[in-house]
Amino acid sequence: MHGGYFLVGGFFAISAFHLWQFTRRSDGAVIVTPDVLMGLRSRTAKMYGESASRFIVYAVGKESAQKAAEKIFGADLSPERIWKKLPHWFRLMGYGELKVIERDSGKEVRLTVRDTFEGRTSGTTGCELTRGYLAGLGTALHPDLDCECVETSCGREADTACQFQLHWFPRVAEPQAIEVASAEV
Ligand SMILES: [Zn+2]
Repeated sequence: MHGGYFLVGGFFAISAFHLWQFTRRSDGAVIVTPDVLMGLRSRTAKMYGESASRFIVYAVGKESAQKAAEKIFGADLSPERIWKKLPHWFRLMGYGELKVIERDSGKEVRLTVRDTFEGRTSGTTGCELTRGYLAGLGTALHPDLDCECVETSCGREADTACQFQLHWFPRVAEPQAIEVASAEV
């Protein structure tokens, strides 16, 4: 019986340690409650419409996950290690039950996530922030390539797992800014 208490206690101690590591390495940027994150989704949908909201939230999720992953993992950013640990981290952070189905990191990765945190927010469709997070992580793992993520099937309505596909592409050069000479006054 006491062994059970030790196991449960150990689990919470390890979880707390991991959370502490995340906050320490990321200045607390990762520890944001799902409610706050999803407020962004519902608020932008009301203000700018559904498709603009999807675009904004995906882009924000992608950028923040890329920065966080680079900062947290640094030189340890080995795709093999990250894909292996990702289900545990997703569960720990409350992002859902993630399962990697097919893994060819740098080309194509297919995975499912059950109980995404978008599922706790009514009035929105799709899982744009989860999609953005995955794309940002994919970009951080292969910095010479760009990564995009599509949600091929959202399971929120049917209470099944959402399906995502990550694809990597050669990075397109940023267009050069055209300098316009300012007229002298
Ligand atoms: Zn979904």
